[in-house]
Amino acid sequence: MDRCIVGYHQDDDTQWIAELECGHYQHVRHQPPWINRAWVTSSHGRSSHLGEMLDCRKCDRGEARDRAV
Ligand SMILES: [Zn+2]
Repeated sequence: MDRCIVGYHQDDDTQWIAELECGHYQHVRHQPPWINRAWVTSSHGRSSHLGEMLDCRKCDRGEARDRAV
């Protein structure tokens, strides 16, 4: 299910996590050459991707929210 990115934070491993409008979190990794998301490594890139849609598989599976909305 497509959900809007509303924020970010980093996990203990300094990987970036997108916070989605539905209350779920999703890793937005930059791991070339498999996953190319260079934008996630800069604050400008991250802010320019706010409001973009990510496919939330947690919604598809009906999982509990990761944060209160
Ligand atoms: Zn979701």
